[in-house]
Amino acid sequence: MIDLVYIAILKANRLRPTTVRLAVLSMISSYEEGTHFTIERICDDLRGNGVRKSIGSVYRTLKEFEDSGLVIRHQFDSIGTVYESSTSTTHDHTVCVACGKIMEFYREEFDSLRKEVVFEARGRLIKHTQTLYVLCDDCL
Ligand SMILES: [Zn+2]
Ligand SMILES: [Zn+2]
Repeated sequence: MIDLVYIAILKANRLRPTTVRLAVLSMISSYEEGTHFTIERICDDLRGNGVRKSIGSVYRTLKEFEDSGLVIRHQFDSIGTVYESSTSTTHDHTVCVACGKIMEFYREEFDSLRKEVVFEARGRLIKHTQTLYVLCDDCL
């Protein structure tokens, strides 16, 4: 039954519901909100569920999901590429340079400043990244 929801989401994003897309989408949807995941984690978790997909096909699927706005890709120093579901609200990140812990934060002031800058540039915001690299309290 639950597959019907994922099939509908894929179709709404003009993606044919192939087995790999369905497997990746349902895995991503099972993660807690605010989870930042790597391709390797998805492959491991799928394998844990008895689903074997090559890292290449999971990579291509995530690229398609990114292009259609289902996931957001981040490139963090010392961690590399992580993804998160785009259902979460606007936020920024702190990343610990020692242990790689990712934390999310939201500041109204940053958000309104960004909107102001985009307005002044007479543009439309497509993507924003703001990452503060820190030493977390565990690593201090
Ligand atoms: Zn740390
Ligand atoms: Zn995030």
